[in-house]
Amino acid sequence: MRWECSRGIPASVGSTLARLNDDRQPKLSAELGELGLIERLTTRFGPAPAGETWAGDDAAVVRCPAETLLFATDLLVEGVDFDLGWCSGADVGWKAIAANVSDLAAMGGRPSAAVVAVGLGTGPSPALVDGLAEGMASASKRWHLGLVGGDLSGSGEVSVSVAMIGAPGPGGPVYRSGARPGDAICVTGALGGATEGLRLLRAGARGSDDPATARLIRRQLRPAARLDEGTALGGAGVSSMIDVSDGLLADLGHLLDASAAGCDLLPTAIPVDPDLVAVTERWPESRPGPANGAGAEPLTSALTGGEDFELLFTIEEGRLAELGPLVEAGVSRIGTVTRGGRFVGRRAFEEWEQQGWDHLRPR
Ligand SMILES: [Mg+2]
Repeated sequence: MRWECSRGIPASVGSTLARLNDDRQPKLSAELGELGLIERLTTRFGPAPAGETWAGDDAAVVRCPAETLLFATDLLVEGVDFDLGWCSGADVGWKAIAANVSDLAAMGGRPSAAVVAVGLGTGPSPALVDGLAEGMASASKRWHLGLVGGDLSGSGEVSVSVAMIGAPGPGGPVYRSGARPGDAICVTGALGGATEGLRLLRAGARGSDDPATARLIRRQLRPAARLDEGTALGGAGVSSMIDVSDGLLADLGHLLDASAAGCDLLPTAIPVDPDLVAVTERWPESRPGPANGAGAEPLTSALTGGEDFELLFTIEEGRLAELGPLVEAGVSRIGTVTRGGRFVGRRAFEEWEQQGWDHLRPR
């Protein structure tokens, strides 16, 4: 990979082309050549605007969106983050982009360009490659960023790693570290749906014609990054922000660690996904109990379930009223920053988390 001048962003579709002709990987090269993988990927990701060069050279050349850049990456690995038994390549491609967009949104910024590295597993199929490309292309279009280059290789498992740059908002990046005692703690949208969607997928519910079930599965497979909300919140001067990828309590824990603060959350104020509540009420007997590590109660799922990609933030109490009209997804005020411990109601975070589950835990 060659690094261009300081205004250039490295990306290396060119090295992929070199690899395709590299006889150290004869089997994969033959398969890749036969499938025309590069064409399948690159034809979807253009054209580059005037003055930029995307795929097709040693590195992509893009304009810097700002003097100070936001730069994020996220890795999805088969068997850890997804299972091709219950999701498609397009779902994986979409989520790989969405997770990065969400991270930039959580800084109050907006994405401009991304590169992707794909491990195709041991037996890449045209459907998988087409799906990955389609999912990444549609998510990139959705959030108006350029997918400017990438690399492919054979691998033990399928993996997708996206690196993304973007620009902070006019007020600069919003950090996790700015929460102060007395600030209101708020979250956009609703929580727990993505975790419930995962549970439903594992139970074989994909393709269900029940609307609530379908929406929950979609929250897991096609998450919506809160990009416009992040821009609006950054512009409104929130004191700290993070996206909910690991779960509300885990991510609030990260924010409070960075801010050296505690919190009191009100259990009844947590915005539990209404579809999660509906599905739970319909089939209570099918739900796993806390003993096997899964969240039995909707509130526990909302507190500990990951991948909702909502935005969690703090703001001075007196400025809360300004936010409502700015945030399309809606905002729930769920608690207050304190100098003390971390509680939901009278129970410490740890007690709730013991009932939840960790998406990195082996399955
Ligand atoms: Mg994040």
